[in-house]
Amino acid sequence: MPQAPTTSSGQTTLLEHPDLTWRDDGQPVANDFDDPYFSVENGLEESRYVFLHNNGLPQRWQQWQGPFCITETGFGTGLNFLMAWQSFRQNAHPDCWLHFTSIEKFPMSLTQLQQAAALWPELADLYDKLLQQYPQPTAGFHSLCWPEERVQLTLVLADVHDALPQLHGPVHAWFLDGFAPSRNPDMWQQPLFDHIRRLSNHGQGFLDQDEHTETHQTTLATFTAAGIVRRGLKGAGFKVSKVPGYGRKREMLSAYYHRTTGPERPAHFSKTPWLHWQRSTSAANTHSQTAIVIGAGLAGCTTARALAERGLQVQLLDKDGIAEGASGNPQGGVYIKLAANDQATHTDFYLAAYQTSLKWMSRLLSSDEWRPCGVLQLGWSEKEASRQCNFLNKVSYPDSLIKPLTQQQASAQADCEMAAGGLFFEQAGWASPAAFCKALVQHPNIHFQTATVSQIVREESQWQVQLNDGRTLNADHVVVATANSTRSLLPNNHLPTKSIRGQLSYLSAEHTPALNTVLCGRSYMAPPHNQRLVLGATYNLNDDEQQLRDADHSTNLGYLADFGPAWKTLSEAALKDPEVRNKLLIGGRVGFRCTTPDYLPIAGPVVMDQSFFDSYQPMVKNAKTVPPQPAPVHTGLWVNLGHGSRGLCSAPLCAEVLAAEITGSSLPVSKTVREAILPSRFLLRDMVRRKVSRDELSDIVSGG
Ligand code: SAM
Repeated sequence: MPQAPTTSSGQTTLLEHPDLTWRDDGQPVANDFDDPYFSVENGLEESRYVFLHNNGLPQRWQQWQGPFCITETGFGTGLNFLMAWQSFRQNAHPDCWLHFTSIEKFPMSLTQLQQAAALWPELADLYDKLLQQYPQPTAGFHSLCWPEERVQLTLVLADVHDALPQLHGPVHAWFLDGFAPSRNPDMWQQPLFDHIRRLSNHGQGFLDQDEHTETHQTTLATFTAAGIVRRGLKGAGFKVSKVPGYGRKREMLSAYYHRTTGPERPAHFSKTPWLHWQRSTSAANTHSQTAIVIGAGLAGCTTARALAERGLQVQLLDKDGIAEGASGNPQGGVYIKLAANDQATHTDFYLAAYQTSLKWMSRLLSSDEWRPCGVLQLGWSEKEASRQCNFLNKVSYPDSLIKPLTQQQASAQADCEMAAGGLFFEQAGWASPAAFCKALVQHPNIHFQTATVSQIVREESQWQVQLNDGRTLNADHVVVATANSTRSLLPNNHLPTKSIRGQLSYLSAEHTPALNTVLCGRSYMAPPHNQRLVLGATYNLNDDEQQLRDADHSTNLGYLADFGPAWKTLSEAALKDPEVRNKLLIGGRVGFRCTTPDYLPIAGPVVMDQSFFDSYQPMVKNAKTVPPQPAPVHTGLWVNLGHGSRGLCSAPLCAEVLAAEITGSSLPVSKTVREAILPSRFLLRDMVRRKVSRDELSDIVSGG
């Protein structure tokens, strides 16, 4: 059996492609399992029969409104996913959204996938769409989305036994694929069935009785009728039927989750009950729901877009207009700084966020607003060079994701002599955050208005947003995405964000050396656009000066020296000679980043701090005493903030996560990543690590 690199630390690593034999009839066979990927007779028809028909599809889609979530074991050639998509396209209710999650330990290479695609001409256009977004073979969660088709794929590249514990559910239908139990016994083990049960039990304890109608019950289909699978599913609370298999195959299994079978445990009895909370609406018809998003920067605009695409009517409000705050910079590098092993969750989040962001950029921006010219992180100091070296020794990524470059290679890449080598992100580049925000709000379900919010109050089952001009607006959900102003809109909350002032300097391209790629040293600089280079930004805590400062321009000009000899000469001249400086420096901009202590953004429901404290109080004394209580949240009130200087990279994935939370869909990120970005994490850490008392908490949340 081939061994995939271990992911036990959660560190993202490179996975192996399968070893395949292509039969004369074009069918792929996995040599390590000695098993074909699908029936040699008619794989497409078999897929339809086994997985669609036996899950009651497409009929269930005809009525279904809101997200319909399928989880598959074994993505393989993507045939099951694409045949489901094809049927969804033809049959689903216009208010239904398909979220397909598939787990794969040995992802096919692009070439292998292309070869498999050639077998199914009727799926050609869907294979094209998949191939355009097909991820690098790095372990972890990959989010692919086709909002115009109302289809989303979360591809989890990992062993099923590592992936399943990281899934949240709900799952409305299971496609239990994977090679036959006799050929792949490692996969068909008890933990598989335990997690199938956990993820099928999604409504338990939280949903109204009427959600457990037949259409909403979780169903499951699998090609095998092996005893071990039948018994495993029965033990997991399923009613299992043996039904005729496809073609010459005698039998297969069709099943549905039956909540009265076996002992039931509500989801919040898990080890991490604070990850569960009461949902606001029962039947999730997203199209009849409304949302107000406050703040039209990157966080707000991406959230508004993700919700609008899922059918919600969204009112977007901002006191200053679209992208007038820190998100209004003319150019920003789309890049990430990855840490070595000790911060695996940080890496998991940023790597997934980065890849998601690249897709959003190419989908929404023109070539004038998004330039994937690459980003070069220079090893500009000994410390940075050794950090990069350390990082490369611990992880392995495909070159197209991150490639180490020597000083010579870096110079060739940048078209200009560099001071050092570094890490090159080939697919990255720069984008205009302001243009991105403006493009995001171009959607018929988004209605923007310039308005100042004075208060947010709960009125019966809706939220009421009161405006300074005396008007009030109502919605089912409110998302507060107002960066550093969020605390004043949500009094009594434990969101320890800090404002950090950043000043950019604009340089005249007439007076600078050539540059082909985005450079990062102590500052970043993008290639010229409209005859101007953007350099920066400074980093000042506790500083609310709105005006440009000469001293900060000098700091930026000083950092130019990190990039290479020509830049160093320019830096020295500009700092010494006012004439050079005046010609070179043609403006700047001040913005205020909203940062968090753990460098991860905050996206999720707003918790009721005091009740949260009371619910989990035993954990202050002993972190292992976890009361089985769901998290007390302000139902329907959400935040998205704390993106620091990385909003271009982090905002799209956070928006997808929030949209999934709000619409009750399964999530595009792992449980670990979701927990790492939840607003409640600071409160929980203070309780468990700092052992805060209830009184101390009152001081903290009231800003004391
Ligand atoms: N559903 C696929 C399709 O539509 O092409 C065919 C699936 S093929 C029969 C089985 C898949 O399960 C293979 O791609 C294989 O690599 C994957 N697989 C096998 N064992 C696995 C494991 N332990 N974890 C995750 N994936 C696994």
